[in-house]
Amino acid sequence: MKMVSACLAGKNVRYDGSSKKVEYAENMVRRSEAIAICPEMKGGLPVPREQCEIVGGTGDDVLNGKAKVMTAKGEDVTAQFIEGANETLKLAQQWAVHRVIFCRKSPSCGCGKIFDGTFTGTLREGDGVTTALLKRHGIEVAREG
Ligand code: SF4
Repeated sequence: MKMVSACLAGKNVRYDGSSKKVEYAENMVRRSEAIAICPEMKGGLPVPREQCEIVGGTGDDVLNGKAKVMTAKGEDVTAQFIEGANETLKLAQQWAVHRVIFCRKSPSCGCGKIFDGTFTGTLREGDGVTTALLKRHGIEVAREG
């Protein structure tokens, strides 16, 4: 089984209520080859929600307690992001997921590059919180685009 970001599968789960639909991801879910998940919603965050970024590091740093996930208005949502990552990992293990395709740049799903915590559209090297946790458990994560 595979797993894809719900927004790639056409679900309107992004912070602003939009999706980032790509046809192949939507088709994979429709054909039951992949499950769609939004880690931020799994962590209890609503749609729409404030835009969030990792401040002071990467998803790995968040898992190590060395960085936080904050909204643009300064609210600390680290706990929700960690909860969402744990729930996503649980689901991935239940479904024996061996490959994940996640949406780029997200503080949850980002893979390789994420926003740098300044809310200026600047990117830095690193993974989102959920991607970092899945990789720690040996699950391969690739990014769309
Ligand atoms: Fe898409 Fe992941 Fe962000 Fe949810 S957390 S909107 S699935 S990129």
